[in-house]
Amino acid sequence: MPGYEFFGPEERKEVNDVLETGIFMRYGFDGPRKGIWKAKELEQAISEKLNVGYTQIVSSGTAALTVAMQALGIGAGDEVIMPTFTFVASFECIFSVGATPVLVDVDDTLTLNPKAVEAAITPRTKAVMPVHMCGAMADLDALKAICDKHNLILLEDACQSFGATYKGKALGTIGHAGAFSFDFVKTITCAEGGAIVTNDKDVYVKADGYSDHGHDHLGVDRGADLHPFIGYNFRISELHAAVGLAQVRKLDTFLGIQRKTKKIFKDALSAIPQVSFRRLPDAEGDSATFLAFFLPEESQARAAAAAMKAAGLPAFYWFDNNWHYIRNWEHFKQSTVLSRFAPGLQQAMELYKVKQFPASDAIMSRCICTPINLGWSDAEVAERAEKLVNAVKSAL
Ligand SMILES: *Cc1c(COP(=O)(O)O)cnc(C)c1O
Repeated sequence: MPGYEFFGPEERKEVNDVLETGIFMRYGFDGPRKGIWKAKELEQAISEKLNVGYTQIVSSGTAALTVAMQALGIGAGDEVIMPTFTFVASFECIFSVGATPVLVDVDDTLTLNPKAVEAAITPRTKAVMPVHMCGAMADLDALKAICDKHNLILLEDACQSFGATYKGKALGTIGHAGAFSFDFVKTITCAEGGAIVTNDKDVYVKADGYSDHGHDHLGVDRGADLHPFIGYNFRISELHAAVGLAQVRKLDTFLGIQRKTKKIFKDALSAIPQVSFRRLPDAEGDSATFLAFFLPEESQARAAAAAMKAAGLPAFYWFDNNWHYIRNWEHFKQSTVLSRFAPGLQQAMELYKVKQFPASDAIMSRCICTPINLGWSDAEVAERAEKLVNAVKSAL
């Protein structure tokens, strides 16, 4: 899964290009930078790779989501529908623009249940934000149809699924905008970084300006830029962009390894009748960073995860995790913030002190996820597959 496993001379070369000039800023300094523009090059490489009109890279995936929300006009009083299984960044971004998160159940795709989304729509709903968890896609046809029918924005959190596709199109490029993370443990890494992608020029222009203090970036002298709106600073540095540029060129290699390894694990587990797998709306497009499967009972899933860990295999039992699943998001449920929410938001959040999500619990309590690493040899993969089968069988 993580691109950092394959950090090598290619990344060093790109970083050294920047170190040679000493220009770490992505804008300006046209003379001294001697033609080195790593951030611009990375944006172009991503647009080409994903076949999307525009890419804006920023300092993190969280920044990418925040900038995307601003560029899409999501703000105070707007409701954004998001899943119960995700990463805490999903609600952090919604709060950062003053909007209200509306949490909705996941189904056996481990992403938004379209029926639950439709049931959660109110006159204040502005956007639906599916999170393409663990390398694979939400049911985008169903979600897009709901958004079209109700005139809602579809913002894809594809932070964990760079390179995955849905019916031939890159995840992140199907909604009005998409966001990626290139943090240290993602499919490809910039060390820290993220990207907003869109086919809407207006959204791109706003994302470009908002991520750099509202600069319009129209002239050659950044100091003389106009500021059509108030922005913020979510810029990426040239050093980080340089790492990403070497990594994006390795994407196909990473995906090839992941898909091959995942198939071996999945085929091995398929021999156990009690095991079922995460439903993939388009299995072809899976980036294969993780294998997610279900056992019939929570107690069996807990026992299997424990047996996997005992055998030296990585096992994520998300049901207990306090970053990824609502059950243990105490700070979210209690609205624990350093200052205070706006009055309307504070009121809307009261709900989460008591709200239960039995349909999500029924899925997540039976789910185990194992990451697919890049560095394993064929012999290691075979050995791990055997250990995986034995660990799961021991729990049944
Ligand atoms: C990693 C991640 C983010 C945030 O990305 P950072 O670059 O770490 O800020 C957002 N959403 C999801 C689903 C993620 O996995």
